[in-house]
Amino acid sequence: MSCLFCKIINREIPASIVYEDERVLAFNDINPQASTHVLVIPKQHVATLNDLEAGHDAIVGELVRRAAAIAKERGIDGAGYRTVFNTNHDAGQTVFHMHLHLIGGRSLAWPPG
Ligand code: 5GP
Ligand code: ZN
Repeated sequence: MSCLFCKIINREIPASIVYEDERVLAFNDINPQASTHVLVIPKQHVATLNDLEAGHDAIVGELVRRAAAIAKERGIDGAGYRTVFNTNHDAGQTVFHMHLHLIGGRSLAWPPG
């Protein structure tokens, strides 16, 4: 499997892991855009949101709830944070294993560029 994030899941590539269970992995982004920049991913390989099926509903819920839990752990839940799934070229997706960006710890501009 040549997928970068599958390699992180399988410990073929190191990462700074912040949470793991049977279905979900969360790790610090290698190029953080804020003091908190965590990627929350399903252990099951799903390339993009376009590939989601009804059977994935539970894992998508877990990703979102885990991001909120990590934000709470870090004390940024009250101030606020951003959660983003980039999909395909126009959104700037570069790794084709779906991932939820959790970004916070500073004031974030909106709309995005
Ligand atoms: P995308 O642009 O696909 O939404 O996000 C991919 C993210 O993965 C980027 O923020 C990028 O910095 C991060 N990334 C790319 N390669 C690695 C890596 O090897 N390790 C970690 N921890 N993050 C990575
Ligand atoms: Zn993968």
